[in-house]
Amino acid sequence: MSQYYRIAVATPLRRTFVYLPPAQSEPPLDPVGCRVQVPFGHQTLVGVILAVEHSLPDDVNANKLKPLLQFLDAAPIVSADMLSFYLWAAQYYQSGPGDVLMQCLPSRARQPKPLVRSTETLWQLTAEGKAFDPEQLGKRAAKQGNVLAALRAQGQMTHAQIQAADLTTAQCRALEKKGLVSRIEAVPEAEHAGVSAVPLTLNNEQQTVATALAASLNQFGCHLIEGVTGSGKTEVYLSLVQQVLAAGKQVILLVPEIGLTPQTFDRIQRHLNTRLGLFHSGLTDRDRANTWMDMASGRLRITLGTRSAIFLPMASPGVIVLDEEHDSSYKQQDSFRYHARDLAIKRASSHNIPIILGSATPSLESLLNCQRGRSQHHALSKPAVAARPANIELIDLTQHQHASGISIPVQQRMSKHLQRGEQVMLFLNRRGFSPTLMCHTCGWIAGCPHCDARMTLHNKPPRLLCHHCNHQLAIPHACPSCRSRDLHALGQGTARTEDSLTQLFPNTQVIRVDRDAIRSAAAFEQELAPVHAGDPCILVGTQMLAKGHDFPRVTLVVILDADAGLFSSDFRAAEKSAQLLTQVAGRSGRGNLQGHVLVQTWHPTHPIFGYLQMGGYGAFARDHLLPQREQADLPPYQAMAMIRADAKQAQQAWDFLTRVRALVPDDINQTGPFPAMLAKRAGYHRFWLSLQCRSRKQLQHVLTHLCDSIDSQSLAGGISWGIDVDPVDMG
Ligand code: ADP
Ligand code: ZN
Ligand code: ZN
Repeated sequence: MSQYYRIAVATPLRRTFVYLPPAQSEPPLDPVGCRVQVPFGHQTLVGVILAVEHSLPDDVNANKLKPLLQFLDAAPIVSADMLSFYLWAAQYYQSGPGDVLMQCLPSRARQPKPLVRSTETLWQLTAEGKAFDPEQLGKRAAKQGNVLAALRAQGQMTHAQIQAADLTTAQCRALEKKGLVSRIEAVPEAEHAGVSAVPLTLNNEQQTVATALAASLNQFGCHLIEGVTGSGKTEVYLSLVQQVLAAGKQVILLVPEIGLTPQTFDRIQRHLNTRLGLFHSGLTDRDRANTWMDMASGRLRITLGTRSAIFLPMASPGVIVLDEEHDSSYKQQDSFRYHARDLAIKRASSHNIPIILGSATPSLESLLNCQRGRSQHHALSKPAVAARPANIELIDLTQHQHASGISIPVQQRMSKHLQRGEQVMLFLNRRGFSPTLMCHTCGWIAGCPHCDARMTLHNKPPRLLCHHCNHQLAIPHACPSCRSRDLHALGQGTARTEDSLTQLFPNTQVIRVDRDAIRSAAAFEQELAPVHAGDPCILVGTQMLAKGHDFPRVTLVVILDADAGLFSSDFRAAEKSAQLLTQVAGRSGRGNLQGHVLVQTWHPTHPIFGYLQMGGYGAFARDHLLPQREQADLPPYQAMAMIRADAKQAQQAWDFLTRVRALVPDDINQTGPFPAMLAKRAGYHRFWLSLQCRSRKQLQHVLTHLCDSIDSQSLAGGISWGIDVDPVDMG
């Protein structure tokens, strides 16, 4: 009987292909989910078998059929349920199935050779190390004591895991010399099902939430934990994770980023006696492939990962936890534009397991899901340790402006806190020295030649830098337009604020935290050493400061420019602003000292501030933002998709979207084509057309139809375009 293989080939095309069996080799017993190599035009590509069909499919011309070249796997590397999840994601985000599969599988799967679990260097305790009391190491080798404790919890640790725990292999080598630790080159031992746990102490509020969650562990349910910063959401996740692991099931734990937050890894491993898998872009392809395979085989019980970890297989699914669910880094911003939160919900439902979302500032999507009963809401209303939530005060810049960007009342309050031996944090979401270089004779402004944007002035080294395309220029000595030498830096970036602070507080250490100053997790830890030591100091930085780290001696947080996101044309700007302001404000008073927040603004009457002072983010989101979105027929009340087009000539992009628009049925709301907020980037003009509809299903239907038409009529004519389903960034 003849056989036809339906294959997702590694191309961006939105379709599958059919091949005949190869002439010689025997097919695998269970071919669906095995990889193959196929001839494709002049190329040889890798693909994954989706189905075996026994009669010639309708969409195939028998004369054009070719045999595939070879089978790459003897047994499926993708299970049937993961395959259908990946294909669902490809369909929902209107991406090619082959391309999507290649992004969901480890990147090593793209190579035409078997995917094997490789050995790695593993550190473990010797018999002597297991019996050793870390107290004997003394104070000077405290970090080595941490290594012993980590190995005791984890059993074996790879280099990546050592790093993630903020430890070093140098410390391991020192312990190796003492005979307490040894290393082997091996595949790690399989983790036993039924992991024992180190007990947690939960406060009453945490216990209530944990009990409610524990009662719903064996079926699908979407749960939102809305917990103010410092309320100890992690403790609640962990209590649940412990139960799932004890029941022999697996866990995926998603966080926005790992590199800069070794504390997360540390806290989890202290409470779980099991090897903690890692999955993020900073790892090697080999490490990622190993984690992927270990989750598929069940050798690993739990993995901590960023966005793409949502594609990790699980041999026995138990729970998915997604922390900081409002964070926009869960959305991939190019080609396959998936949202890990939305996929996590879909995936949990297909496995019939719970999904736990957590945030101090939940997205409007998640809040509405709770209001509509699709999600269960759990609240943690008080900080676990801090005395009281920080109070927020406004500083009206129309009354108190100052050339340095730091108003006099702010300077005075800073002195007071520093004199008490406490720490101060200033937040400014603009890196560089100054955002604008301007000629005061003719008004010329330094713009990027490739983007529709200003160049940012940097001082170390001195240069103009475009933050959108990284184009660099020397700082001109005279105005290129009128030759005047009257050039001025306008406005403040973090580097300039650092300079001002050094002048205003000559006796206090100033630590700057942004992408220019901090290039690695190790550098971050090093810079933060005085902060952790508790010395009075000033931290100034971008939103890097808002994430993860606990600074118990920071008692004053100053938001220097609270207006930055308030008047944007992006309909999500107010939501994002309120989230960021709340997250930053939450950095104050995390220890047992009372926290204070000062907010500098030119618009003290803007409703956002009244809400943040009185009811907090939750009230602003529910009473102000959601009704606004409902009235304006915007997400989350409507499903939205954006068709984006980039072209060297603006006209080409506009023409393409106009042709697309003509294909859209009348019952779909359309906006555009419009130039994007950043109308030109790296030489390309950017336009979008937005489609909206109450029914997600109907919108999906229209999008699929549009893609077919665009492809079959070759409407794009060589320009670059893409579909962004449920966009989060309107730029
Ligand atoms: P969130 O993630 O909700 O902002 P964290 O999980 O970071 O808060 O917890 C804040 C701090 O409170 C952490 O240092 C944590 O160890 C501590 N903490 C949380 N729950 C408890 C508890 N029940 N008892 C004592 N300390 C707790
Ligand atoms: Zn000029
Ligand atoms: Zn540029």
